[in-house]
Amino acid sequence: MVHAAIVKQLKDLVGSQNVFDNKADRVTYAYDAAVLEPQLPAVVVRPENSEVLGRVVALCNREGLPLTVRGAGTNLSGGAIPQQGGVVLLTNGLNRILEINSEDMYAVVQPGVITAQLAAAVEAKGLFYPPDPGSQAVSTLGGNVAENAGGLRGLKYGVTADYVMGLRFYDVEGNLIKTGSRTVKCATGYNLKALMIGSEGTLGVLDEITLKLIPPPRARKSMLAVFDQMERASQTVAAIIAHHIVPATLEFLDNFTIRAVEDFSHAGLPVEAAAILLVEVDGHPGQVAEEGEQVEAILKQMGAKDIQVARDDAQRDRIWAARRSALSALAKLKPTVVLEDATVPRSKIPAMVHALQGIARRFDLAIGTFGHAGDGNLHPTILTDKRDKGEWQRVEAAIEAIFDEALALGGTLSGEHGTGLAKAGFLKKETGQGAILLSRRIKSALDPNRILNPGKIIGD
Ligand SMILES: Cc1cc2nc3c(=O)[nH]c(=O)nc-3n(C[C@H](O)[C@H](O)[C@H](O)COP(=O)(O)OP(=O)(O)OC[C@H]3O[C@@H](n4cnc5c(N)ncnc54)[C@H](O)[C@@H]3O)c2cc1C
Repeated sequence: MVHAAIVKQLKDLVGSQNVFDNKADRVTYAYDAAVLEPQLPAVVVRPENSEVLGRVVALCNREGLPLTVRGAGTNLSGGAIPQQGGVVLLTNGLNRILEINSEDMYAVVQPGVITAQLAAAVEAKGLFYPPDPGSQAVSTLGGNVAENAGGLRGLKYGVTADYVMGLRFYDVEGNLIKTGSRTVKCATGYNLKALMIGSEGTLGVLDEITLKLIPPPRARKSMLAVFDQMERASQTVAAIIAHHIVPATLEFLDNFTIRAVEDFSHAGLPVEAAAILLVEVDGHPGQVAEEGEQVEAILKQMGAKDIQVARDDAQRDRIWAARRSALSALAKLKPTVVLEDATVPRSKIPAMVHALQGIARRFDLAIGTFGHAGDGNLHPTILTDKRDKGEWQRVEAAIEAIFDEALALGGTLSGEHGTGLAKAGFLKKETGQGAILLSRRIKSALDPNRILNPGKIIGD
């Protein structure tokens, strides 16, 4: 419960049409895309301008109210669940693209701008914003920065962090902080920008984001390679990288996922294949021709049964749209879908794929594996029904086994989905206690009343 006087103050700040405190609205903002228990917020607010955003943050701090910022709520680690109730702050009223600067190749946006909308606006000006999470049609740029989101093009073009030139954010007292710049280089002051990227709303509230843009590639070539052994497909990923070719995209789908996606999207995927690789090389036309031939040669050498090269943009787009639908396709099969994010050094992909097959057998679970194999980031996806208590216990054990395996192979708990609530308890396994204690000291210094997204990343 939030005191009526505070609700009144919030209404005075953002307008009563932007404060939601009835149960039906609060239920809508109690969960995100992670398989975790929902938690009702006491009140939901929607600031429509930057100044008011800062004043809401300051009010929450003064009143000791937990504050959870929410973009589109698509994160997969529980970051937008208001674990301790309090206020959920929506960013969809802060959704303006403030500037696209073609000359200096950057864009300035408010945090609630939808990722794909920026990408389209930038493309219309002959430029390119590469980060493309599978959720880009709905996810927000604030959410992308706060999670350091990746995507299908991460292998060659990097993740959101690689495009953030500058940030403006509110600290917990409502002071507006500027970090980074519109210049290509900036070495001024502490790198607060780096601290904020991936901080999942626990250290401050993003208000304005300056993003680097690049020229679009002039040519591209997309291929689909069919394998009748999963091991061969995973070894091929490692082989392409070992030849020092960096495709724009190198995606892996196992048979389980291929069939689910084909049922869902009817894109013409080979349903009998044990696994497929989707590869796209891009860049200067000469480079694309050369690398395209090299990749085809490696695919053949590694035993690809069939290689289809996209004839035109329409065919290419159909295949990539099918790949982007993988999670939705799998999600239709069972009531509960746990999408994991095991990430290993790229040479270890075959070992990780092998381990995942063993884990599925050991815990008697349906696990579909797909993902950004080219950057070592697999998404083993467990299909289950959380109401089946016995099976759910096996799922929890399997998740831990997946983390252990990824770490044993020199990998990480999260390639792109963040820590949130879902992985907070496992953080120590990867970072050790020292990093957690240091992180807690940073948190205490920046948020002494512990109101900013409490419980996330480093626990309570
Ligand atoms: C179908 C599907 C496909 C996906 N594919 C990918 C993928 O390919 N790659 C990938 O990386 N992720 C992927 N994701 C995960 C998710 O889309 C990303 O994490 C995304 O960045 C979340 O954006 P959002 O706007 O939904 O943020 P939310 O889920 O609303 O919030 C995410 C976190 O950011 C914080 N936050 C949001 N806005 C702000 C702000 N203004 N200031 C401070 N903190 C803030 C929130 O408190 C929360 O902790 C996928 C999710 C789904 C459901």
